[in-house]
Amino acid sequence: MHERAGVGPVGGKVNQTWAKVGQGKLELVRGPIPTPGPDEAVVRTTLTTVCGSDLHFLHDYPMPRSADHLLMGHEGLGVVEALGDHVRGFAEGDRVVASCVFGCGHCTNCLAGHLHTCLTLGRIPGVSNALMGCQGGYFVVPYASVNLARVPDTVSDEQALLVPDILSTGFAAAERGGVGTGDSVAVFAQGPVGLGATGAARALGAGLVIAVEGIPERAEMARALGANVVIGPENAAERVRELTGGRGVDVAIEALGRQETFAAALEATRLDGTVSSVGIYATHRSLDVPVGLGFYQRRIVTTLCPGGGDRLRRLFAVAEHGSADWPRLLTHRLPLSRADEAYELFAARRDGVIKIALVPDDDWNDS
Ligand SMILES: [Zn+2]
Ligand SMILES: [Zn+2]
Repeated sequence: MHERAGVGPVGGKVNQTWAKVGQGKLELVRGPIPTPGPDEAVVRTTLTTVCGSDLHFLHDYPMPRSADHLLMGHEGLGVVEALGDHVRGFAEGDRVVASCVFGCGHCTNCLAGHLHTCLTLGRIPGVSNALMGCQGGYFVVPYASVNLARVPDTVSDEQALLVPDILSTGFAAAERGGVGTGDSVAVFAQGPVGLGATGAARALGAGLVIAVEGIPERAEMARALGANVVIGPENAAERVRELTGGRGVDVAIEALGRQETFAAALEATRLDGTVSSVGIYATHRSLDVPVGLGFYQRRIVTTLCPGGGDRLRRLFAVAEHGSADWPRLLTHRLPLSRADEAYELFAARRDGVIKIALVPDDDWNDS
């Protein structure tokens, strides 16, 4: 266990957080409960989870040069513990979630409602303004007035936990692809975000929704979220073409972050159709865009995880009133003290795992 230099327990409470301490190395670090800066909120975690992006941060991205550890976790639900003087619209004790990719609230992109493409903070999009530290007892939310959202009483903890990334990113993939009434949609890979996109395509009024997935439990979940057909990854583009009378789909969503799925998505898209790429290509330095007949007169759009209070409020409404049973994605539940096991299980895609709810142990914050 790492003790952070120069700090000790405060008032019998500490902040224990899972952190990357080296390439692929996850350990607990301990420090004091953070004190919020003027624009920040400190949130006590009540529920969190592991994400595919966490695996990329842990294994694929380099350590930050300025620190010996990187606090992990960007999807968290909790209770406001303390607020900076400038934070408006929230009170201590509020049940909240935070944007996974946060914005300053003041730049032109933020003012347009696109906090995830903040021009002030997002120099490395989605990385330099990624929320960090949710896999711990307390986490800090920058620019909290615009990046936090209060969870309505009618929305469960499990529904709320899935809002800031799985629903936001999944819906963004479908929205950016321009999925409209009756569109045919193919979603390549049914991990949590792919499943989010499948459910989003259905909710946005798609016609035929084709899910591409080889793991039986994920295929079943895709059907439960509104996929009409599930096909395996082998020759998927060809199968999609067959299923759409040879034309290809109106929108193909890439939700894995691999060269093969990107190429297959492009090939499966009809003339004048759109490829919406949402997977994180963390292990790739570049993408090869095949320029066969499936290339010309297509649109390619890419997507990050939109944040901001307004976005989150809208998605709470989707979680509450939409027809999908989103908490089904939380297939496993473990105490936060076993997050290392959760990482392993999630990475291995074993035991039908889709999302793992991590609950802080009763004594997690005791020193
Ligand atoms: Zn995530
Ligand atoms: Zn901004």
